[in-house]
Amino acid sequence: MSQSLIIFRSSGKIEYQYNTKTNPFNEFIYTLVNETSIELDANFYTASLHQKRFYCYKRESVYAALYFDAVTTLDGDKVKSTLQGILKTYNKLHEDEDEDVDKLKKLVELQFNKLMKIKLAEPTKPRSATPSGASTPIRKPGTPVPKTPLSNKKMRKWDGDQISSALGNSKTLDYSAADDSSHAVGDTSQYLADDSAFVKENELVLVNELNDILGESDDEEEEAETSSKKGFLGKLTSYFGSNIDVNEVSKKFQDQLVSKNIAPSTAKTIIEKIQNNFSSKKNVTMPMYKQALTDELTKILTPNVSTDLLYDIKRNSGSSNRAYVISVVGVNGVGKSTNLAKLAFWFLQNNMSVLICACDTFRSGAVEQLKVHVNNLKNLTSSDASSKIDIFEKGYGSGDHVVATAKLAIQHATEQQYDIVLIDTAGRTHSNAKLMAPLKKFGDAANPDKIIMVGEALVGTDSVEQAINFNNAFGNRRSLDFFIISKVDTVGDLVGTMINMVMATKVPILFVGTGQTYTDIKRLSVNRVVEMLMS
Ligand code: GDP
Repeated sequence: MSQSLIIFRSSGKIEYQYNTKTNPFNEFIYTLVNETSIELDANFYTASLHQKRFYCYKRESVYAALYFDAVTTLDGDKVKSTLQGILKTYNKLHEDEDEDVDKLKKLVELQFNKLMKIKLAEPTKPRSATPSGASTPIRKPGTPVPKTPLSNKKMRKWDGDQISSALGNSKTLDYSAADDSSHAVGDTSQYLADDSAFVKENELVLVNELNDILGESDDEEEEAETSSKKGFLGKLTSYFGSNIDVNEVSKKFQDQLVSKNIAPSTAKTIIEKIQNNFSSKKNVTMPMYKQALTDELTKILTPNVSTDLLYDIKRNSGSSNRAYVISVVGVNGVGKSTNLAKLAFWFLQNNMSVLICACDTFRSGAVEQLKVHVNNLKNLTSSDASSKIDIFEKGYGSGDHVVATAKLAIQHATEQQYDIVLIDTAGRTHSNAKLMAPLKKFGDAANPDKIIMVGEALVGTDSVEQAINFNNAFGNRRSLDFFIISKVDTVGDLVGTMINMVMATKVPILFVGTGQTYTDIKRLSVNRVVEMLMS
C-alpha cells in the first residue's frame, strides 16, 4: 500500500516529507496550480490521479498534501481535520526559535498514522439489504462502500421480479481458491453491494435509476447545517413574485453552477443563453428565471438518441452475424475496467454471453486485473442460465498488437456465438496527441457498435477537454456514443461534470457509476441531477 504526506510552500520548497515518493505529488500540484482539482471546502482540495486519491489543505502559503492508493476509503472530513492539525503542528513548531525537528516529525507522523489506522480499520459492517425498488442506502461523499462479509454472500439469480439471493447452487463468493486468486485486486466481499441495482421488466433486467445516492446525507447534523446554508437561493426568496434584476441574478446563478463543478466557460454559456432569452422581456420573476434554467439544464442532459442498449444488442443478434462490439475508453484510473465489468454483470443478468477482450496491452497488470473481474463474474453467474463470460487476451505489446487482439477477439466471439464483445482499452492522457492517435486506428479496425467513454465525476473543468478530445479521436465519421460517469458517489451534489461533458459533445450519459461493486451502476435521473445543480 502506498500513502504519503508532504508539507510544501507555494514557492515549491518542500518543508517536510513522510513515507514520501514526491513524484506522484507533481501532477496533483499541477491540478492545484491550474485550479482543476476540486475544492471540497475552503482551502481543502482533492483530485484522483493514477488510482491514487490526493487531498490537500492550505493555510496561508503552506500546504499539506497526502495521498492513498485507493479512492473513497476515508471520510473527507477526517482527512481535512488531520491535515489542519498537521499544518497547525508544523506552523507552531516552525515559528518556535528552538525548533525541534524530531518533535515535529513525531507529532506529524502520529497524526498521519492515526488517519491511516482509521483507513486500515474501516468497518466491515454489512450493508443493509434494501427491498427491490427501494432507494439505495445513502453514502456520504468520501465514505467507503460498506462491505458484506464474504461468507454470507450468496450467488444471485432472478426470482420473479426481483434479484434474489437464494441460490440453487450454493457456491459462496469465496475466491481465495480461485485460479487467479494471486491476481486479486481487492476484497471479493464487496462485489455486490446493492440489491436494488436492477429491476426486472418483462423479460429484461434493467438498471435502476439514480435516486437518493447523490447529495444526501444520513448525518442529521450535516443536513441541518446544509439547510441553514442553502446558499443564495434561500436569501432570494423575498424576490419571488416580484421582478428581478436579470443581470444580478444571472451572475449569482453562474457562480452557483460553477460551485457545482460546472466549468466556468460552460456555466457562462448556459447563463448567457438564459439572459438573452429574457433580454427583451420587462417583467421577469425569480420563478420564471429558475424555471428557464431548470429547463435548459434538463434539455442539456436529456439524451436525444436512444440509450436502450439491450434493445440494440438484441436487434443486432437478430440481424447481424457479428457479435455486438462495445469498447470502453477514457483517461487512466477513471474506472474503465470496473465499469466494463459492471456492464458485463448487467448483460449476464440478461442471460447474454459476453467475451471480454483485454486491449490495454500497455499497463502492466491490466490483463490480470481483467482476468480477476472475469473470474469473479463467472462465479457470480448462475450455472443454470444461458449467460456466460470469458476473457480473450493476447498478452502485452504495443503498435499493431492492440488492433490485432481486438480483431481476433471479435472474430472469435462471432465464431463462438457470443452476444457481446466488451473491449477494454488502455487509459491515455487526452491532451497527448501521440497517445490519442492510435484510437483512430483502433476504431477503424474494430468498428465498435458502441464506443463508451468513462469519465470521472471528480474531474471538473478538465472534463470539457477530456470529452472533446476523446470524441474527436475517432476521426470525422465516428464519435463517442455514450458516457459512463464514474465515482458519482464521491462528489455529493457537485455533479457539474455531467453537464460539462454532455454539453461539450452532445454525447448522452448511459449510466453513472456509484461505487466499487458490480451493482453500483445506475441510470441517470435527469430531474434529480438538475435538482441538485439548482439547490
Ligand atoms: P481504469 O484504470 O480506468 O481501468 O480504472 P479502474 O477500473 O482500475 O478503477 C480505478 C479505481 O476507481 C478503482 O479503485 C475502482 O474501484 C474505482 N472506481 C471505479 N468506479 C468507481 C465508482 O463509481 N465509484 C468509486 N467510489 N470508485 C470507483
